[in-house]
Amino acid sequence: MIGVDFDNTIVRYDDVFGRVALDLDLVPPHAATSKTSVRDHLRSIGQEDRWTELQGIIYGPRMSDAEMFPGVAEFFARCRAADTPAAIVSHRTRFPYLGEQHDLHAAARNFLSRHGFHDDAGIGLPVDCVFFEETKDGKLARIAALGCTTFIDDLPELLADPRFPSGVRRILFDPSQLHEPPLDVEVAASWADVERLLAKAGS
Ligand SMILES: [Mg+2]
Repeated sequence: MIGVDFDNTIVRYDDVFGRVALDLDLVPPHAATSKTSVRDHLRSIGQEDRWTELQGIIYGPRMSDAEMFPGVAEFFARCRAADTPAAIVSHRTRFPYLGEQHDLHAAARNFLSRHGFHDDAGIGLPVDCVFFEETKDGKLARIAALGCTTFIDDLPELLADPRFPSGVRRILFDPSQLHEPPLDVEVAASWADVERLLAKAGS
């Protein structure tokens, strides 16, 4: 079983933070170039709450602006063709900490449906192979319960967590190549890289 994280591993938000922050008049154009620039600007003007609220909007109603990383659909389709079971395991709160109470799990599930994840003629991932957990502990427990042999995630601290189930091959998805991978964690900069890694040794 190959487990895959959702936010920032399947879903790419690169341009969404800047666009939505501009739409809502939260930042001036020069601060809307990336997620980090939006966050840093709001923090610098003492608007941390706005930042929290913005995340609730982006992971909720404005998920429609996000896109898939290139190669994700092909990866899942190839898993299916090879009879390799795959699952999506995410840690995402059900409702935002602040602001309007959008159902963030429903927004994420809609994203998957809209992008054809569950189409039998397409990716064909069964709906019951998608797990949204409310806590990091819940996510780690799910990875163990599913018997994942490989897990792919963009957060080095999750993969390096001492409670991460042992014996699972860990791949850090790091398209911006920002991180030094933790010990015993492999790194992929793209989904093509993930496939190369998995082809090299048994998954
Ligand atoms: Mg993630």
